[in-house]
Amino acid sequence: MKEIILLKSGEIALKGLNRGSFEDMLIKNCKSALKDLGEFRFLKAQSTTFVEPAGDCDMAEALERLSRVFGIAALCRARVAEKDYAALEEAAAEYLGRELLSARTFKVAAKRSDKRFPLNSPQICEKLGAFLLGRFPHLRVDVESPDVLVTVEIRDFAAYLHGRQIPGAGGIPVSSSGRGMLLLSGGIDSPVAGVMMAKRGLSISAIHFHTPPYTSERALYKVKRLAGIMTRYCGTIPLFIVPFTKISEQIRELCPEQLSTIIMRRFMMRIADRMAQRDDCGALITGESVGQVASQTLPSLACTQEGLSLPVLRPAVGMDKEEIVSLSRKIGAFETSVEPFDDCCVVFTPRHPKTKPKLEEIIRAEEALDQGALILEALDGIEKVLIRNFAGC
Ligand code: ATP
Ligand code: MG
Repeated sequence: MKEIILLKSGEIALKGLNRGSFEDMLIKNCKSALKDLGEFRFLKAQSTTFVEPAGDCDMAEALERLSRVFGIAALCRARVAEKDYAALEEAAAEYLGRELLSARTFKVAAKRSDKRFPLNSPQICEKLGAFLLGRFPHLRVDVESPDVLVTVEIRDFAAYLHGRQIPGAGGIPVSSSGRGMLLLSGGIDSPVAGVMMAKRGLSISAIHFHTPPYTSERALYKVKRLAGIMTRYCGTIPLFIVPFTKISEQIRELCPEQLSTIIMRRFMMRIADRMAQRDDCGALITGESVGQVASQTLPSLACTQEGLSLPVLRPAVGMDKEEIVSLSRKIGAFETSVEPFDDCCVVFTPRHPKTKPKLEEIIRAEEALDQGALILEALDGIEKVLIRNFAGC
């Protein structure tokens, strides 16, 4: 028995003239997600893409990986059948038998694009429906909301049979909207923010501010693993690791304690902004959410984004922590995010951070620092690691 995977594209269909290039990106991303599973042929037809394995492969794994590729509304495994009605009946009973046995209602839908096939679509539905009722007498037909929609597609090159589809990841293909620089901490929010922007078509680069010896190598390893988990949705991620110890120490020594978090954030944003431009990014991305902590009040956000050249995207800005946690679980990052390794913010967190900082007082406080030199030194010390799309991680 030969099987393929059918991908139904979602929003791509709305993209008019760009549709072709969107579809090409989608196929490229699918190929990269399946790279180590074997060879696949891709065939586009209207809003469906046919993914055909060249030889034996783990179809369950392939389906799961493709369910994380953005730009797909729904997908399913399908059986390739002979274009002969009697063969279709047997194939349907055999291939969908288990699904039909556990269902109470069904409906047959048929699409015949090969008009040489002797039965038209309504005739296929009627005959196959009657046959399946005979074979599985516990079933009833429900045309409104069947448990199983048995679908038959008669295409020029073959006939396909499938049952239930699973929802795809939605969104639009990664890289169709350009590239964003994600400020990736070791926490819960930033990996979620990165995946949310990948869903809107951004390729993701990440930047992490590392503060050894206050934060350990294990904390850095955790950030790399989080980026690894994100690659299942985002593809390969270049990760920039910034040495941030000197800046943090100088802020602690020379600036008022209650302003230190905001000043640290401002340094992170400025360094990220510079690195983002070098890396061809059109935006910065953070996991900030209004009111979550002192550095995320409106006055604090205004201070942290002051003077940047790129827009700051904060996809989690209006989400509750619980909603973010639920997305974090869904993308498989939560267990790693909550591993207890300090990040720099915990070590350098003031006891009473200011919730309504004024930009003038921050700028005055920063004058105690040799800002230009500190930023240049940090940029010079950046280490780049490519976190590859190892889809099965
Ligand atoms: P997260 O928000 O990822 O759960 P967190 O809650 O500890 O981590 P916050 O203190 O809320 O982080 O910081 C807000 C945002 O600032 C983070 O979402 C992240 O985008 C950025 N950020 C904080 N610390 C770092 C860091 N060490 N490296 C890179 N980005 C950071
Ligand atoms: Mg946070």
